[in-house]
Amino acid sequence: MLPQFVYEALPSRVVFGAGSLQKLPEEIDRLGATRAVVLCTPEQRSIGADIVVMLGARCAGVFDGAVMHVPIAVAEEARAKVRRLRADCCVAIGGGSTTGLAKAIALTAKLPILAIPTTYAGSEMTPIWGITEGGVKKTGRDVLVLPKTVIYDPALTTSLPVGLSVTSGINAIAHCVEALYSKDANPIISLIAEEGIRALASGLPEIVKAPRDLEARSRALYGAWLGGVSLGAVGMALHHKLCHTLGGTFNLPHAETHTVVLPHAVAYNAGAAPEAMERIARALGAGSAAQGLYDLAASLDAPVSLGALGMRHAQLDHAADLAVQNPYYNPRPVTREGIRKLLEDAFEGRRPAASLTHTVGPQ
Ligand code: NAD
Repeated sequence: MLPQFVYEALPSRVVFGAGSLQKLPEEIDRLGATRAVVLCTPEQRSIGADIVVMLGARCAGVFDGAVMHVPIAVAEEARAKVRRLRADCCVAIGGGSTTGLAKAIALTAKLPILAIPTTYAGSEMTPIWGITEGGVKKTGRDVLVLPKTVIYDPALTTSLPVGLSVTSGINAIAHCVEALYSKDANPIISLIAEEGIRALASGLPEIVKAPRDLEARSRALYGAWLGGVSLGAVGMALHHKLCHTLGGTFNLPHAETHTVVLPHAVAYNAGAAPEAMERIARALGAGSAAQGLYDLAASLDAPVSLGALGMRHAQLDHAADLAVQNPYYNPRPVTREGIRKLLEDAFEGRRPAASLTHTVGPQ
């Protein structure tokens, strides 16, 4: 029998496929916008300039100062520019940092966002915003910040460096994984999440071999979209909370931290979420979910230990204390002892033990 569940679809229009960037002008017209502001990072200034050319008279100006984690000063500067330009739409081209800036603008200026993602972060599919003030990242949910239109053009991701492609892709897998054992898990999102893992796990190894392969890039971007849908639709658990704590307190890099922690968070939850484990393992084509995730990262030469990311062993106790400070939903109760052990394993980069993982079929 199916369990009781609530499923809420979020409204957004997706234009997908190699070459779909060409549809940008008509998509802007469809939104009824006439004065778009283009947002990008300083590193992606050149693609930002291409977008300005494509938009022609529909473009009111550019803000090319997007940076990681949306510092409030940058958000205020961009908001002021949007007001000065009398812009009526934000076109965000880039990764989660650029989409995040567009969301900070939309939150106060109530402008529609057209997002053109170039990483696998998935922010373009969520109503979640985040702004960093005084070293603390404040986050919230508001459907106002959900992009109205998203153009996924895999050709734009061929320039994403291989290392970042892998960790950003595993970050997207993490969205799918935690959706499968979310407190709000439901059959629709579970279908989406499992397919997201499958698409990314098959696309990423091909990207490592041939970074400009459009077929592999398409599959990975498709998986990232599904990961974003999963993240936007249901609540996350231990893995995301832990990565947020590690990133915020010890200044560890976002996607790499997700890559290292994921197999260990999954091993921690394995016994408490057997159906999710079965789906993850099936999507990976692996005997066990946690080991399959570890092996995927290791085979792609991604970091597998917190030590390699610059964390110090002496910080693990403090990290474990912080991780259990505010209670939150997780399929297995979060204990100080359990988290300290998880962190030790993640610090050392140990392959999760078979006894800790749910196994599928003969081993
Ligand atoms: P990012 O946006 O910071 O991009 C990393 C770097 O890669 C930047 O310098 C960027 O210019 C460059 N880059 C992006 N695409 C490129 C490409 N195709 N070719 C070459 N260089 C490229 O990193 P990210 O991982 O996409 O985003 C991380 C941020 O997004 C974090 O702040 C995270 O908290 C946030 N995030 C938010 C949500 C949400 O739902 N609100 C979801 C996921 C991530």
